[in-house]
Amino acid sequence: MSPVTVKIKEKRPGQRACGEKDEKGELCCGHLKRWYTPSEDVAKEFGKNVEIYRCERCRTLYRPAPGDRSTAGQKYEPRPVNVLGAFVRTDHE
Ligand SMILES: [Zn+2]
Repeated sequence: MSPVTVKIKEKRPGQRACGEKDEKGELCCGHLKRWYTPSEDVAKEFGKNVEIYRCERCRTLYRPAPGDRSTAGQKYEPRPVNVLGAFVRTDHE
């Protein structure tokens, strides 16, 4: 077994575009998408249920900065609504 080293960057709060620079020093600016199906290596390194984002262009991996509440598309996630029409919290963590 060789040690697995997965390169992952820390996403700034609210960051949605990739800040990785190419050889010419130009920003990638690729869209950071939530990566729901991490590879085995990544799952092993960071756990299966961690929030990981991946750049659509250069595939750089990002994890949210600690305490960043602006990630995970929380604003856009459909939430179940109970009979009273109130939002039901589903994030029991
Ligand atoms: Zn990128």
